Amino acid sequence: MSENFSYPTPHQCCGKVMSYVWADSDYPSLEDNWVCESCDETLPSRRYSDWFGQGDTDEELKEYLESNEDTPLRIFYDGYMVCIVFAEYVVVFGYDGNEYVHTFCFEEPTDKIASQLFRLGIRKH
Ligand SMILES: [Zn+2]
Repeated sequence: MSENFSYPTPHQCCGKVMSYVWADSDYPSLEDNWVCESCDETLPSRRYSDWFGQGDTDEELKEYLESNEDTPLRIFYDGYMVCIVFAEYVVVFGYDGNEYVHTFCFEEPTDKIASQLFRLGIRKH
């Protein structure tokens, strides 16, 4: 296990703290996993590292949700990016895998999907 990257985000499973399994001993990667030694449950790691710094999308998600009173409807991941869907808005943030960290908040919904699709010339049934 690399000593260069210590992150304080233990994941929990069935009451146990999960262990971190490195795929590469030098850098965190999407091949790293969290493993529960009690029940064998495995979760992908969201730890990242680049020349600009390092982070953990799961840790950033935890901080965000703890600072937000709203409860998300759905949470989607794409690598180190996370999309959090709330009833009235959608938040996207994370590391893009190539040097940059992004944050977006979408809060202007299209209320009438059918007429929006019609204006775009799309027919959906
Ligand atoms: Zn478990």
